[in-house]
Amino acid sequence: MRIQSGLFPTLREAPSDATSVSHVLLTRAGYVRRVGAGIYSYLPLGLRVQRKVESIVREEMDRAGAQEVLLPALLPAEYFKESGRWDVFGETLLRLQDRKGGDYHLGPTHEEIIVDMVRREVKSYRDLPLNLYQIQTKFRDEPRPRGGILRGREFTMKDAYSFDVDEGAAERAYEGMRVAYTRVFDRMGFDYRMVNADTGAMGGKKSAEFQILVQSGEDVIAACRQCDYAANIEVAETPAFPARGPEPGSVPPHEKIHTPGQRSIEEVSKFLESAPDRFLKSLVYICDGTAVLVVVRGDHAVNEIKLGRALGAAEVRMAEADEVWRATKAKVGFAGPVGYSGRVVIDRDAASISDAITGANETDYHLKHVQHGRDFEAEVVNVREIIDGDACPQCGASLGLYRGIEAGHIFLLGTRYTESMGASFLDDKGVQQTIVQGCYGIGVSRLVAAAVEQFHDPNGITWPMALAPYHVHLVQLGNSPEVDLAVRSIEQGLESRGVEVLVDDRDERPGSKFKDADLIGIPLRVTVGDRGLKQGQVELKPRSEPDPKKASLIGLDSAVSTLVEQVQAALHASA
Ligand SMILES: [Zn+2]
Repeated sequence: MRIQSGLFPTLREAPSDATSVSHVLLTRAGYVRRVGAGIYSYLPLGLRVQRKVESIVREEMDRAGAQEVLLPALLPAEYFKESGRWDVFGETLLRLQDRKGGDYHLGPTHEEIIVDMVRREVKSYRDLPLNLYQIQTKFRDEPRPRGGILRGREFTMKDAYSFDVDEGAAERAYEGMRVAYTRVFDRMGFDYRMVNADTGAMGGKKSAEFQILVQSGEDVIAACRQCDYAANIEVAETPAFPARGPEPGSVPPHEKIHTPGQRSIEEVSKFLESAPDRFLKSLVYICDGTAVLVVVRGDHAVNEIKLGRALGAAEVRMAEADEVWRATKAKVGFAGPVGYSGRVVIDRDAASISDAITGANETDYHLKHVQHGRDFEAEVVNVREIIDGDACPQCGASLGLYRGIEAGHIFLLGTRYTESMGASFLDDKGVQQTIVQGCYGIGVSRLVAAAVEQFHDPNGITWPMALAPYHVHLVQLGNSPEVDLAVRSIEQGLESRGVEVLVDDRDERPGSKFKDADLIGIPLRVTVGDRGLKQGQVELKPRSEPDPKKASLIGLDSAVSTLVEQVQAALHASA
């Protein structure tokens, strides 16, 4: 393909509404254009990348034995009404009426539609198992669509659904999809983690998310630096710390100390020359309307979701200053568990400090030599937030904190939809049984954006070979007959060997061509100019190499074979 004869518009400026790197770069480099809030057109480059994502997904679904179908995007309301989701989805569902006043909506997901197909077609255990998938446009009326195609209102997803005779068979289907998903993300070259989202709260059914690790991600996950342990920060575990401080029996009685105006742990710790991990930080939370004093180690933070779960409370929030005053009779910063009259809970890593400093429930005073069990009673709970460097619960190595973009989700659904929609079969004894279902999603268009979030540098996108819109970016400098001929021969040589080439044949300054090449992000850049050709050479520079001096000269004669080799090596490494 030649830039001169195609649609490859690059922009100097970022779009004014852009909040993410992928939004900025995909727009500037000419991959997508905004049509409305959360609605985008794909230009030729963007569509090529999306097609690469789709074809890797399709290959791995087919390899796993799934069959492709295509369900409609426009859906009559009856199916969601049957399952109850017509109401559950609320304003997220894009609803419309046809000319006869019938209720319709655009599909945000297709569990009901596929269950309906299966309940009509499956009669006997001989018709199972089934694993059906589609790559389809989905619609969700997000309240604040942002981040470009990272979270649009119209987006492309691969959704797959497995149907089995019992839980055991369904678990094997789930496991097969887990393997297929790791192959998908490995082949695309992502740095990602599979995060078990199984909390037991969903009725014991299995579920896992595939998180692409990026600085800009919305979700925080704790992942081991050594093994495969990874969990959302709300459910991440770490072993309790061993007891710290002197022998409990040798600690002197607690003692009040004057700490005028010293509120934060940092201030008091500096004032008393004592490390923050010897403090009991006492925070008042309002849990389902009641004040609870929550005590954690000075260098730890309370995770409100863990706290809610530990207390069985539906709503948890920090107390306001006046509520702190009512609960502790002191200003914010001087709360403590000793003499506190309400409910007190203490994190296990705070409970194991034998000689601690804490607020005195009196403005401008703290207490030292405080010991849980001797000076105050509190329920021991596990409510603190995991921090970087905590021990892995699986292998003991250190946990790191990462931000992630959820790009895939696998879920052993059970009979949530098949039961309520009457999808059943006759087993080998002629007894009617309910089909067991799994569902498996990959955000196809989201992966295009997630790739840019992970693969970019200050100059533009740095696509992995498997997702790049083209493999080689051929920059033509000048238009002498020699240059024309060399460009044509490399282009044809590569294309005949299945390598995709984008030729920049525009009449532009070399500097601006190189800038655009960096912005667009094709993995291999080859420059053909009169100066090099005089020595029979062209210049090769990998996009991932930031130093322009690291470009190498290769012989014109061997250019095609060198490039074919490098492209194939990169694709094989990931396949
Ligand atoms: Zn580990």
